[in-house]
Amino acid sequence: MTTLRLYNTLTRQKEDFAPLDPDNVRLYVCGPTVYDYAHIGNARPVIVFDVLYRLLRHVYGADHVTYVRNITDIDDKINARAAEVAAAKNVSVEAARAEITAATAKQYLDDVTALGCLPPTHTPRATEYVKQMVAMIGKLVADGHAYPAEGHVLFDVSSKPDYGKLARRSLDEMLAGARVEVAPYKKNPMDFVLWKPSDDLTPGWESPWGRGRPGWHIECSAMGEALLGETFDIHGGGIDLMFPHHENEIAQSESAHHDHQLAKVWMHNGFLQVEGEKMSKSLGNFVTINELLKDWRGDVVRFNMLKTHYRQPIDWTSQGLVESFNTLANWFRTFSLSSEMSQPIADSVLEALSDDLNTPKMIAELHVLYRDGKHELLASTLKALGFSGDIEDPKIAVGSEGAIAIEQQIAARTAARKAKNFAESDRIRDELLAKGIVLKDGPNGTTWEVKR
Ligand code: AMP
Ligand code: ZN
Repeated sequence: MTTLRLYNTLTRQKEDFAPLDPDNVRLYVCGPTVYDYAHIGNARPVIVFDVLYRLLRHVYGADHVTYVRNITDIDDKINARAAEVAAAKNVSVEAARAEITAATAKQYLDDVTALGCLPPTHTPRATEYVKQMVAMIGKLVADGHAYPAEGHVLFDVSSKPDYGKLARRSLDEMLAGARVEVAPYKKNPMDFVLWKPSDDLTPGWESPWGRGRPGWHIECSAMGEALLGETFDIHGGGIDLMFPHHENEIAQSESAHHDHQLAKVWMHNGFLQVEGEKMSKSLGNFVTINELLKDWRGDVVRFNMLKTHYRQPIDWTSQGLVESFNTLANWFRTFSLSSEMSQPIADSVLEALSDDLNTPKMIAELHVLYRDGKHELLASTLKALGFSGDIEDPKIAVGSEGAIAIEQQIAARTAARKAKNFAESDRIRDELLAKGIVLKDGPNGTTWEVKR
């Protein structure tokens, strides 16, 4: 078996992966803040690190990998949403908060399960680990790495000489690049919050610094320590988390642990944009996993996500989804996946994945297996990679021939519009609409979707 090589953000290079303990390979990935539906960008780290988890389980044995993905259920965005809901529904803020976090966490787990992702070994919620957070903050204060000020506790970045080693930025650059909150009680503007005071309407816990709540960064440090120990193998998340979140996790944990390294390998997925644009609610191109799953089965979404290497930016398009659907529809017409099948993974696919999760290469190798008629091996490989083999759905039952027919109609309509034959172009549009296919004209041409 080829050696697993992973790109480490900490060293900015690909390295041979050697676990601290091959009997217990430990992986931590920052999970969602549960106040709203997860979007398709949030699905990227979940799918990417699920593939890594499956690969590690394959190499080291399913019982020898511990995967932690937390749920952030203490956060000011949650508190703001809870206040809105409490006012609208005339319930207590605490009841609204409990309801929002429970419902969102459940929705999230349902959505990512539909995407073929295995449940992590542990899914800790921040609210269950406040005691450990308070203990870690207490240690940092006692050792001179943190200081209380006006009900807050702040991490003193000047106490950690290598602060910035992950982001590779100097304090000055960080100051210029980050939106730091300037507050009179901070010694240094880069000092960040470990604990902050809560008023009566905000969830709070008793602590040596008064009733309050933890900052986001300390949540991950405390949950990681509790479930994986002081040092673990791999820490992952989206590239936006590298700074300040991961830099601050390193600062807190290493300062609390006599400078023992928090994680040996840091992995970050690139960002996802939609149809060439940054996804945002104001642009109206904000796609939740939940909505997408109404049109496409999880297999199609998963396959489409893996066509791009995890460190590259990905442009999420309906055209890409149609192509992914067509590939899978073609395969699953030839063979099917069954739940009983043993799950050997093709060597060529293992080799591709071992090279820093080269999933575009993996997909090329899947096509080769199909071309060479190795359908049984292709089926077992897909199964082991988290595909279910179920892609047909009444709502999306256009099938691959249907998709090709739609593309032909779109081409005919585009030609008609070029020739200024608008009666014909409208006729084609209406004909498709009658079949439940909605056309969308954009700067890069016309795409289609199934009417919801
Ligand atoms: P959040 O709930 O915003 O903390 O995000 C949860 C995870 O999704 C983090 O690992 C983020 O880095 C990741 N993420 C958020 N937006 C995107 C995006 N557009 N593309 C890729 N990953 C993202
Ligand atoms: Zn985190």
